[in-house]
Amino acid sequence: MESRDITIIGGGPTGLAAAFRAGMHEASARIIEIASQLGGQVTALYPHKSIYDVFGFPEVMGKSLISNLVQQGLQFGADVRYGETVQRILRHDDGGLEVVTECASYPTRSVIIAGGIGTITPRKHDAEGCDRLEGKGVNYAVSHPEAFRGKRLVIVGGGDSALDWVMNLVEVAARVTLVHRSDEFEGHAYTAHQVQQLADHGRIHLYNPAVVTAVVGNEHLEGVTIRTDRGLVRTIEADALLPMIGFHMNLGPMADWGLQMDQKKILVNSRMETNLPGVFAAGDVVTYSGKIKLIATGFAEAAIAVKSAVEHMRPGQKARLQYSSVGGLPKRRSQAFA
Ligand SMILES: Cc1cc2nc3c(=O)[nH]c(=O)nc-3n(C[C@H](O)[C@H](O)[C@H](O)COP(=O)(O)OP(=O)(O)OC[C@H]3O[C@@H](n4cnc5c(N)ncnc54)[C@H](O)[C@@H]3O)c2cc1C
Repeated sequence: MESRDITIIGGGPTGLAAAFRAGMHEASARIIEIASQLGGQVTALYPHKSIYDVFGFPEVMGKSLISNLVQQGLQFGADVRYGETVQRILRHDDGGLEVVTECASYPTRSVIIAGGIGTITPRKHDAEGCDRLEGKGVNYAVSHPEAFRGKRLVIVGGGDSALDWVMNLVEVAARVTLVHRSDEFEGHAYTAHQVQQLADHGRIHLYNPAVVTAVVGNEHLEGVTIRTDRGLVRTIEADALLPMIGFHMNLGPMADWGLQMDQKKILVNSRMETNLPGVFAAGDVVTYSGKIKLIATGFAEAAIAVKSAVEHMRPGQKARLQYSSVGGLPKRRSQAFA
């Protein structure tokens, strides 16, 4: 496998920013990503939500931000490996590193860990029949809101995701029913108020406190059985069920790489160096005094991590930091450093 200057573990916003910064330093890069798509938490959890705090974008939809980051980040020819989980980082006697996945081994001169919160898997609903009808009306993510057009939809949950999808799909679905186990919502107060108003005006059906106990249907979902806290049980006709009841987040193999950690986050210094030589980290996966987990901070940390990685590969030389507004973009695709 061809060696790269920088191997970036994780293709979320931070990893994509790191790929761009690598190109600006004319360093070759490779991204290794567990998922089949780039974008990390934004793609997995809120692709259709508006983001208001990425500077320079007063409002940007998650998937638009990622599409811009992909266009910007991959323009210098970074190699991207999808569907592979980095299991180990090996060190050779000559100081070279090797990033090992379940599929291949990737030689590299430095590593930037941008693994965020690790793997993100939706919490599955334990109502009878849910596992059997998964993908046949029972879904745990909204890949495309239009898929719910004209459907009788039941959403389960009272957190931000459930409430946001009620607001986003109320005009799309033929009917929205929200089922929540408590009489209080856990999501943002303003959205909770909007959802309550929809219920008060009869625009959605709200069952709370109540739980979904079973789903019915043979080849496809046909109905959802709901039990209220007063013991009332009824089955309503439904074409789609969206349980939005949280996620399992798992740091995965990263926890066993000999990195100095604090509360499951990688400790870095102000150069984004970890305790392992040649291994840097940035984004949600890191911690230091004053760390905040935002897309914007991940971008800045990615820029610092790449500069540090370049200086690691060229000991004794300061990495040249050229403003893009002054020098433009590098004229050629990034090659591995000699
Ligand atoms: C619901 C929600 C809303 C949010 N809203 C905002 C907001 O409005 N504004 C804002 O600034 N921030 C927001 N955030 C936070 C923001 O999403 C994160 O700060 C950002 O995604 C961090 O980017 P990252 O690239 O560091 O990590 P991630 O986005 O977590 O990406 C890490 C990537 O690494 C991959 N990975 C992990 N381990 C491995 C491995 N061993 N091998 C290969 N790949 C691996 C993962 O699959 C993932 O794709 C929100 C977060 C959530 C959950």
